[in-house]
Amino acid sequence: LASRQFHAHNSVVAVNDVRFGAEAVPVIAGPCAVESYEQFRETALAAKDAGAAMLRGGAFKPRTSPYSFQGLENEGLKIMQAVGREVGLPVVTEVTDPRAVGLVSEFADMLQIGARNMQNFALLKEVALAGRPVLLKRGVAATIEEWLMAAEYLLSGGSSEVVLCERGIRTYENYTRNTLDLSAVPLVKHLSHLPVVVDPSHGTGNWRLVGPMARAAVAAGADGLIIEIHPWPEEAMSDGPQSLTLANFRQLTRELAKVAAAV
Ligand code: PEP
Ligand code: MN
Repeated sequence: LASRQFHAHNSVVAVNDVRFGAEAVPVIAGPCAVESYEQFRETALAAKDAGAAMLRGGAFKPRTSPYSFQGLENEGLKIMQAVGREVGLPVVTEVTDPRAVGLVSEFADMLQIGARNMQNFALLKEVALAGRPVLLKRGVAATIEEWLMAAEYLLSGGSSEVVLCERGIRTYENYTRNTLDLSAVPLVKHLSHLPVVVDPSHGTGNWRLVGPMARAAVAAGADGLIIEIHPWPEEAMSDGPQSLTLANFRQLTRELAKVAAAV
């Protein structure tokens, strides 16, 4: 169902009035984790002002250490929904547990499957039934075939709106958090009709690399971007080193408009 052989034309996935796979290249922006109402609201207002089409934020964080901040959970969902409505932008957030799919679907406009859960088939089956568009991240060690098969679980399970997200894969290189595989963009678009967005934040782990890789992603044909931003990255409770300041994000959206116009 994910294959181009099944569906020759590019699929357009709509999240409210944001369209992935159409002409424009929507940018999703927001903090890695929702930390407080004030932090998320300030970020959302700046994101909207800079031209972001959608908001991101984590309420359930899949942290490597159980002692790290795990997210505000239900409180984070409420904050995202309230702020999303206030600023008028849809919200995507990660769901990590099949038992929380109903809850997260009540508060979010799009459900994110994180890299660590790309092959959590019980979660994929539950999310497929939720009736929400899905952002499916590539696993840290997933081949393109495995990633497309994870999309197949969603599509065969009842979901018709799946957006793929390249977010970097693990290689021997340690100077970056992951190795962003931009060749996946044209390759997956050749193999599949699904839209592909790029996450240069997790893809590099370093805010200085986010802008250049975001521009390169648009030049490579990405159908959207998802970018971590924070009002005070040095104080962020997760992923501060890869988060753009609000001012740097504004600068980036200006540059992206030029790249989009040129391709
Ligand atoms: C995130 O988007 O904050 C996240 C945890 O992403 P990934 O699953 O790609 O690591
Ligand atoms: Mn993050």
